[in-house]
Formats: sequence, structure tokens, C-alpha cells
Amino acid sequence: MSTVSTEQMRFWSPSVRALEPYVPGEQPKIQNLLKLNTNENPYPPSEKVVQAVQSVLANAADVLRLYPDPDASELKQAIANQLHVDTQQVFVGNGSDEVLAHIFKAFFVQDLPVLHPDISYSFYPVYSQFFEIETRKIPLNAQFEIDVADYQQPNGGIIIANPNAPTSIALGLSAIEKMLQANPNRVVVIDEAYVDFGAESAVSLVARYDNLVVCQTTSKSRSLAGLRVGFAIAQPHLIAALEAVKNSFNSYPIDRFAIAAAVASFEDQAYFEAQCQKVIACREQLATGLEALGFRVLPSKANFLFASLASHDAGELAQALRGHGILVRYFNMPRINQFLRITVGTEAQNQRLLDTLKALLA
Ligand SMILES: *Cc1c(COP(=O)(O)O)cnc(C)c1O
Repeated sequence: MSTVSTEQMRFWSPSVRALEPYVPGEQPKIQNLLKLNTNENPYPPSEKVVQAVQSVLANAADVLRLYPDPDASELKQAIANQLHVDTQQVFVGNGSDEVLAHIFKAFFVQDLPVLHPDISYSFYPVYSQFFEIETRKIPLNAQFEIDVADYQQPNGGIIIANPNAPTSIALGLSAIEKMLQANPNRVVVIDEAYVDFGAESAVSLVARYDNLVVCQTTSKSRSLAGLRVGFAIAQPHLIAALEAVKNSFNSYPIDRFAIAAAVASFEDQAYFEAQCQKVIACREQLATGLEALGFRVLPSKANFLFASLASHDAGELAQALRGHGILVRYFNMPRINQFLRITVGTEAQNQRLLDTLKALLA
């Protein structure tokens, strides 16, 4: 972003002058780069997704002048079929980041603080500031786990990522049920961006809890980060609030390409499941390899590992890897500044990382 002088800022809305926006992992253009820093899937999406995009393209002259379906009904139906819910329980948005923004606006502007873990997805504080929502950060325990007992306090809502990011650790459904039962008058949001890599989804609880919102994305497990499709599952009275916010912001968030491609992805469940299994297998191999090099690796149910090495400074290690064309994510933040967040790559990519680390540590 270009620098703007205080004088030039006089044009900006006062609240915008104070914003501290989210900083995405870098997407640099370096030759032979190995990107293990933004949790993208190393495998391509289903061939059926590519065909679906091509068929929109084939009719582009006819269809692109027309708005897409504002409700993306076909996509809602495809999601509902796969997740065994009703279409009335599905909300779709332009990436789950957008869905989360609508969730914060729809449910969290309350007179008590919203609770989230101290170490969690860094977009939550950004949205809280954006919507002027007071929050309370609840520390993870010494093992970097969420302890449900710590959330038993008056609140304006709760949001957790499950598995949590960047720790990769998953929380069981019984713990989530305790949170839901303790907060009958507040919305509890479970951000399941990584759930398909081995955690239990809270979608199975939606029918029983009128205060639960589950948020998922096609970006990670469906290899569609470039498409920007995320969704939420909840009972219809909560979906209605999200629709009200969405239709006050952008009524056509999902374009024709995205609808067609995401529908094709949900219709090719066999490919999806096989590919998740491949990532899980690679994750376990990578964890073993890192542990053999002396790393402590937190137990991951995601497509990334959170790892630290007692003998080396994590920030310096991230820099050294960068020098070898390998990007991992480093957070210079309290409690986690000796950890690296490493996206699981293909077997060959993981081997390159391990070989490079071995050489660096020798
Ligand atoms: C990646 C991620 C998202 C955002 O996903 P998009 O659908 O690509 O916007 C949301 N929550 C968490 C925890 C994530 O890691």
C-alpha cells in the first residue's frame, strides 16, 4: 500500500484512518518458489471443476452480460446435498472471509465482548475493529488448546476456528456442545476452514442448536482458493440475518464462474475425499520428518503444521528458508514467535523442505 500523509488522510472517514487491516501471507513472484505459507492445497481441483468453468466460458458471449443468480440457489442446493442439510440452512459468500464479515455484523455487535482465543485467525480482531466490536481474548492453555471452561463468562458471542489456526489443534464436538449450551442467548461461530482434514464438523449439531453458525470454505480442502467461495450452515432464522446483511452490502457476491465451479466441486465428492486423504497422508509424513530433525510439532488436524525447534530461532529459520526459495509463515507475536506454520505440500515438496532444513541445521 502506498504511504499517505496525515494531510491527505483528511479525506478519509475518521474510523478508516484508524484501521489495522489484515496482512495476507505473501504471494511473491520468485522462480522455483515453494509456497508453504498460505495453506493452499498442493493438488489441483477436480477436472469436473475445470470443465464447468470452460462451459461458462463457451457461453460467455451470452451469459456474462447478465447478472448471476443473487441467491446462488444451485450452489446452495449442491452444498445442502453434500452436507445433508436444507437449502434454507445454507448461506454463501465471496470467500469465507466475506461470510465471516457478515457474521460479525449480523450477530456480534452486542453490548458485551465477543470471546475468541488469544491465538487464532488474525482476521477476527480485524473485523472486530472494523465493526467496532469489543472483544476479549481468551488464552489457549499451556498445550495451546482451547479450554471450554474459560469461555463460561458473560459474552456477546463466541468465535473459534476448529481446527484452530495457526495451532492446527482440533476441539471435539462435546466441548463445542458445552459452549452452545452455556450460551443459549448468544451465537457461537465455529470456523471450519480446515475441518475436512480430519476434525469433526459441527454441521451435525446445527439441527439441535438454534445459536450455532458453522462456517466453511472451498479454498483449502477443495483447492479453490482462487475462486472465492465460502459458506455458512445454520438454522434459517440465523441465515436470514446473514442474507439481510449481504443484501445491504452486495447482492451478487458469487459470479457465474464461481457458481459453476463450486457446484462441480460439490458434485465430485469422490475426488474431494481422495484428495483430502492424500493431504492427510502427506501431513503425517511431514510431521514425522520434522520430528526426526528435532522439531516439536503440535498435533494437527489441518493441512498445515505448527512446529518449533528449541535450538534455532524461528524467525531466522523462516528467513533462511526464504533464501532457498521456500516460504513458510512466521508470526512475530507473543507465545508463538518460536513457531513456524508450514503448509503441507505434495510428497516431493515436503521432501524439498526437509532436505533444505537438514542442510540448514547441519
Ligand atoms: C483461510 C481461512 C479462512 C478464509 O478462507 P477464504 O474462504 O479463502 O476467505 C477463514 N478462516 C480461517 C481460519 C482460515 O484459515
